[in-house]
Amino acid sequence: APPDHRDELQFILDDVYRRGLDQRDGALADYIPELARVEPESFGIAIATAKGKVYAVGDAEVAFTIQSVSKAFGYCLAIEQIGRAQVLQRVGVEPSGDAFNAIEFDPHTRRPYNPMVNAGAITVAGILHDRFGDGAFDFMMDRFSRAAGRPLGFDEKVYRSESETGHRNRAIAHLLLAGGIISEAVEAIVDLYFRQCSILVTAVDLARMGATLANMGENPMTGDQVFELQAVRDTQAVMFSCGMYDYSGNWIYDIGIPAKSGVGGGIVGVVNRQLGIGTYSPRLDRKGNSVRGVAAVAALSDELGLHAFDCT
Ligand code: GLU
Repeated sequence: APPDHRDELQFILDDVYRRGLDQRDGALADYIPELARVEPESFGIAIATAKGKVYAVGDAEVAFTIQSVSKAFGYCLAIEQIGRAQVLQRVGVEPSGDAFNAIEFDPHTRRPYNPMVNAGAITVAGILHDRFGDGAFDFMMDRFSRAAGRPLGFDEKVYRSESETGHRNRAIAHLLLAGGIISEAVEAIVDLYFRQCSILVTAVDLARMGATLANMGENPMTGDQVFELQAVRDTQAVMFSCGMYDYSGNWIYDIGIPAKSGVGGGIVGVVNRQLGIGTYSPRLDRKGNSVRGVAAVAALSDELGLHAFDCT
């Protein structure tokens, strides 16, 4: 039994962590050499509440690249900057059911299906680039950092490696240009996308960023209003339907929390008005989701009754 009431959440977290350690399935992402160089056994979980308390276990302070988790926060910023109607004209909100790097667009509108797949995230990068030009990355970095409550780092090697090998993403960007979805600054736009993916975070950072979304855009630890209210709602909605690659339907069904994962091994989960969850473990399943991360968030959802349609 938990030693005392105050520590109950920590007790549950420790237990979920111990159970997750048994999971040895999955493989490191290796589409760029840099990502295969991380310690495969790393595993950390953190929870940040909407009241500003943080709980953590394991390697919750180990830094890794945010990768596709950045797509959720980028989308939030695009809506704030040009409004949801304008954003919706350029990127949809329909789950694609296909892989994150699929080369496909809505046949009627030529828009990317949603902002959580690469085509959609590159479109979002295009929106921010139109707005801020060369200052777009600093703008993103500033907001991501304020959401985490500390200045975040950047992985130069992952960025270079990504940029040198990112032919598929460049191809997607050129198709977006051909479809009139992004502007001619294609190379600067994919560069922004590669950079945003190379921001360094920890599980604690992701939990805090999640808590900032959960707390209506205000970082509960610092009191800083980082994101706009309407944009936060739209972001959580699209994380809910599209955040876990082509596992998103199963994820909603079983776990029922808006979330976004990345091939760096991170997952952010958001329980509206309550808390943010951050996990890190770099071994991924076939769909690209962290094996231990999925297991951990699933266990927390169960133990804490976090599923959106929980009936207990
Ligand atoms: N930078 C990666 C890519 O676009 C992100 C992949 C991911 O996390 O899904 O290939």
